[in-house]
Amino acid sequence: MSEDYKSMWEKLGLDLEAHDMLLNVLGKGYQDIFLSQKDRPEGMGYFDFVMSEVHGLRIKELMDEKDQGRKIIGSYCVFVPEEIALAANATLVGLCAGADFAMEEVEKYVPRNTCALIKSSFGFKLGKVCPYLEATDMVVGENTCDGKKKAYETLKDLVSNLYVMDLPQVKSPMGRELLKKEYYRFKEAVESLTGKTITVESLKQGIDTVNAKRKAIHRLSLLRKENPAPISGLDALLANQVFFYDNPKRFTESVNKICDELEIRIQNKQGVFSEKTPRVLLSGCPMAVPNWKLPWLIESSGAVIVGEESCVGERGTRNLTNDSGRTVEELMEALVDRYFKVDCAIFTPNPDRLSHIKEMAKTYRADGVIHYSLQFCQPYLMESMPIEKALEDNNIPTLRIETDYSMEDAGQLKTRLEAFIEQLK
Ligand code: SF4
Ligand code: SF4
Repeated sequence: MSEDYKSMWEKLGLDLEAHDMLLNVLGKGYQDIFLSQKDRPEGMGYFDFVMSEVHGLRIKELMDEKDQGRKIIGSYCVFVPEEIALAANATLVGLCAGADFAMEEVEKYVPRNTCALIKSSFGFKLGKVCPYLEATDMVVGENTCDGKKKAYETLKDLVSNLYVMDLPQVKSPMGRELLKKEYYRFKEAVESLTGKTITVESLKQGIDTVNAKRKAIHRLSLLRKENPAPISGLDALLANQVFFYDNPKRFTESVNKICDELEIRIQNKQGVFSEKTPRVLLSGCPMAVPNWKLPWLIESSGAVIVGEESCVGERGTRNLTNDSGRTVEELMEALVDRYFKVDCAIFTPNPDRLSHIKEMAKTYRADGVIHYSLQFCQPYLMESMPIEKALEDNNIPTLRIETDYSMEDAGQLKTRLEAFIEQLK
C-alpha cells in the first residue's frame, strides 16, 4: 500500500491482523499469477495499480464520497441494477467472495457442503477483512439459487443493512412482472436511502454510464477473437473483475485505452501466446476476486482463454440498456428488458445459455469449452451435463471441472487440463 490506510481500516472495524494476512496472500498470489506473465499490454499497468490499491485508494475514494453525502451499496449479483444506484446518487460495488476466509467460523453458520462463493461472503464478514462490505450503507442480496436464498436469512443477523431482492426463476410474462415489481421496490429503497428522487435525466445518465462500461468491455472481448490472442485470459478476467468496483468512468477510459493498444498489437500480429496455442472458452460460475486458480492453471498448461461465459464476463456485461425512453417508466421498462435476458442457471428452463455458449465459441474461435462449476453449486453443476452433451454433439470438445477455492486439487486439475489441451492440439 502506498499510504498508511491503517486508521481508515480501523475506523471501518476491520481486524487489522487478519486483514494484513489477507493482503499478504493477495499480493503474493497477484505477483505469482499476474506479474509473472510475459508480454502483457502496457495498459494492464492501470489494473496492477488498482489491485495494489484495492483496499487502499479505492476505499479512501468511497469514504470521501460518503463524506460528501453519497451512499455506497454493495451487491453479490449482476441482477442488481447499477443504473438505479447511480441515478439516485449512490455508488454500487460488487462484494467479492473469491477466497476462503475464517472457514471454521463460517461452518458454524452454513453447512460444510455450501458453495465456496457463499461461504466466502460469510468468511469476509466474520473475519472482518472486507473494507467494501464495512463501507456500505446497504447490502443487496437476491433470491437466486437455494444456497443464497437461505444464506441471506442467516446473513441478515450479521449484516444489519441487508436488503433482499426477490427474483423470478422462470422466463415467463409473470417472471418479468416480478422482476419489474422488484426493480421498482429497489428504486424506492434506494431513493429512501439517499433521499434523492430518480428523474428521467438521472436515470438516463446512470444507464449511459453503465452502457459505456459494458461497451468498453465488449470492445475488449471482440479483440480477443484474433489469433494470436492479443491479451491473456487472466488479464481479461482481471478487467472483468475490476468492472465491479472501480469508478465507472475511469474504468471505461482504462479499458478503451487497452483496446487502442491491443488494436496496434493485432496489426503487428503480436500476441501473448503463439498462433498455435489452443483456444478455450471458459463457461460457468462467476469468478470473483481473488479466484484466479482455474484460469491460471489453464494458461500455465498451454492454452489461452479467449472468452468467459460467466457473470464476471459476458453473461454479466452483454446487452446494453435502451436509453431512448422519455419517462422514468419507459427507462425502467428498458432496464427490466435488459436484465431479464441474463441467462443465469437459476432459470428453468434455460436454453438461452447453451445458445450463448455456442455463439461465443464460434465468435471467439474457441477450440474447446471448459465448463467450471463450484462444488455444491447445484444450478451450474446440473446444467453442465446437458451442456457438455450438446456441445460434444456439435463437435465442440468440452471438459467439465468441479472445484472450490482451495489449492488442494491443483495438481489433479492440471493433469486433466493438460490432457484436454493436448486433445485440442
Ligand atoms: S450466477 Fe446467477 S446468482 Fe450468481 S451472480 Fe450470476 S446471475 Fe447472480
Ligand atoms: S456459485 Fe452456484 S450455489 Fe454458489 S451462489 Fe452462485 S449459483 Fe449459488
